[in-house]
Parts: sequence; structure tokens; C-alpha cells
Amino acid sequence: SHILSPRNHREETYTEEHIRPRRLQDYIGQPVVREQMEIFIHAARHRGEALDHVLIFGPPGLGKTTLSHIIAHEMGANLRQTSGPVLEKAGDLAALLTNLEPHDVLFIDEIHRLSPMVEEILYPALEDFQLDIMIGEGPAARSIKLDLPPFTLVGATTRAGLLTSPLRDRFGIVQRLEFYNIDDLAYIVQRASGIIGARIDGGGAQEIARRSRGTPRIANRLLRRVRDYVQVKGTGLIDSEMADKALNMLNVDNQGFDHMDRRLLLAVMEKFDGGPVGVDSLAAAIGEERGTIEDVLEPFLIQQGFLMRTPRGRVATRRAWQHFGLNIPSRLNL
Ligand code: ADP
Repeated sequence: SHILSPRNHREETYTEEHIRPRRLQDYIGQPVVREQMEIFIHAARHRGEALDHVLIFGPPGLGKTTLSHIIAHEMGANLRQTSGPVLEKAGDLAALLTNLEPHDVLFIDEIHRLSPMVEEILYPALEDFQLDIMIGEGPAARSIKLDLPPFTLVGATTRAGLLTSPLRDRFGIVQRLEFYNIDDLAYIVQRASGIIGARIDGGGAQEIARRSRGTPRIANRLLRRVRDYVQVKGTGLIDSEMADKALNMLNVDNQGFDHMDRRLLLAVMEKFDGGPVGVDSLAAAIGEERGTIEDVLEPFLIQQGFLMRTPRGRVATRRAWQHFGLNIPSRLNL
């Protein structure tokens, strides 16, 4: 697990819980999502109803879990947390659902990885707050119906396209998280510094923000590493100069690319003449899983204008060639 991976490292879980915002007002950035959620939550509370089911999609580390915590907190409800791959059997989900209290929030991370059988159970639960389960096997099997309390499912996934359409259709609220801009990330870094007791100035926060791949989880992680660096090599204050030195030492470049990003872009340019190249060939060339390319690496490179997705495959942009100081082959017409 490298330093710029937007997936969380296991040992970070504790720290992440510690700095995770609990209120909508502390959820920085994502203005559209925030404004909408504020209205929907307020309205549901006012009517004394459970909030409609919410689907959140976006690359790892952008705040899906955080938003689910906030929804529960703002609704004054409990949060139950699980994930698609964990719910192996229909009974696993049934046990969770029957233990919910009215208006509780059930958060299912990686909801696209639910097994078809578990998904079947979920449909009537979402639609009518009813559970249809089979008890026993063979001729003695019978189905029973149970009423569930009104609850809110919050489902998270990296890409909306991974969901089956019947499941997708059952969410009344769909939110898409975007990469964060530098000012928002700098603010997130400042806020986290306050919580963990790191000394930082505005320039230091900006420098960390610029190199965090638009991702709060990475920003918070880089903050912790830079803080270690200034503690040993500096005065303990994170300013832009020390942040720059620390991040260079960590091999995070000035675009916030790490070696996997560089490897991917260089492969497109050097091994595939700039593309177009299919994602499977690319995966084989850099020894990375296709899913990781699609969910983790590519979204940021595309958003930053270094890579394009075309019907014939991935293409490196002019910006990518320039970033690496490579000559653009004239036949490419970029
Ligand atoms: P995801 O579930 O999308 O992988 P998380 O919700 O776990 O991401 O977010 C990772 C970390 O980033 C959290 O611990 C939280 O501290 C921070 N974070 C995410 N979104 C925000 C935000 N909008 N404002 C402040 N901090 C955030």
C-alpha cells in the first residue's frame, strides 16, 4: 500500500475515525451534495420520516463513509455499517435488517459486490420495508414475511455503472462525489491539523493539498507524514518549504502523482505510442488490476486532463507528454 493510495491502510482506521467530520457543516467541499443533503435531511426530519435511500458514488477516499456517518448523525439515528462482500448469505442481511430501529441508517460499502441472492432480499426491504425469507429446505421450506422499521439504506460504490439497474432504481437520492479542489483540501488539512495537534501555516496546507490527488484521505495521510518529517528535520512547523521537502522525499511529485500514476502514463506513451490502448492491455503492461486502473488511477488522471477515455481506448493528452518532458510524436496531432 503506497503513500498515494486512496484506499485506506488498515492502521489508519483509528486516526480516520478520529478526524472524520460528524456534522454536515464540517463536510468540506462538495457544495452541491451538501446543499441537497441539507434540504433532504431537514425535510425528512420535519416530517418525522426516515430519509429516502441514498446512493453515493465516487473514487475511494472522497468521503462516502463520512457522508453516511453524517447522515445518521444529522437524522439523530444509529449507523450500522457493513459491506457488499461481507454479506455472503441472505441470512446475514436479514439479521442486520431485523435489528434496525426506526430511521436507522444502514451503510453498505461496495454495494456493487452484493451477491444476487442478497440483492433479491434487499428489493422488498427497500421498497416496502418488508422482508421475505425462506425457512428450511426441500418440501418443508416455507416463506415468511416480516415487517421492518422504516430505515435508510446508504449504499456506496466507486462507479455507478457497476450497479444492477433494479438496485439503482430503488435509491431516491443519488449523489456523485467529485475530486476536491486545492482550497477545500487545504481547509481539510488545516482542520485535521487542529485535531491531531500539528502546527501548520497556510502555505504548508496548500502544498500538501496540491499533492493529494484531489482526495481527503490522501491529504490527511500526507499531513501525518509531513508532520513526522518536520518534527525530525525542522522546527515542528509545517510551512510550504518543509512540506515540499518532505513530499519530495516521499516521492510524491508536484502534480500529486505517485509511481503508479507515472507508470500508467509512461506505459501509454512509451509502450503504446500514446494510445489508444485498451484497459486490459494497459493492465497487463503495468501489472495492475483492471479494476484498480478504472476505479483508482484513471479517474484522477482523466479529471486532471492527462488521460482521455475514447471508444478505442485510453489516450495520453498533450499535457501528459509535456509533464514528462517527452517529445510529442507529430503523427499524434495533439
Ligand atoms: P470513502 O468512504 O469515500 O473511501 P471516507 O469517507 O472514509 O472515504 O473519507 C476518508 C477520510 O477523508 C475521512 O477519514 C475524513 O477524515 C476525510 N474526509 C472525507 N471527506 C471529507 C470532507 N468532505 N471534509 C472533511 N474531511 C473529509
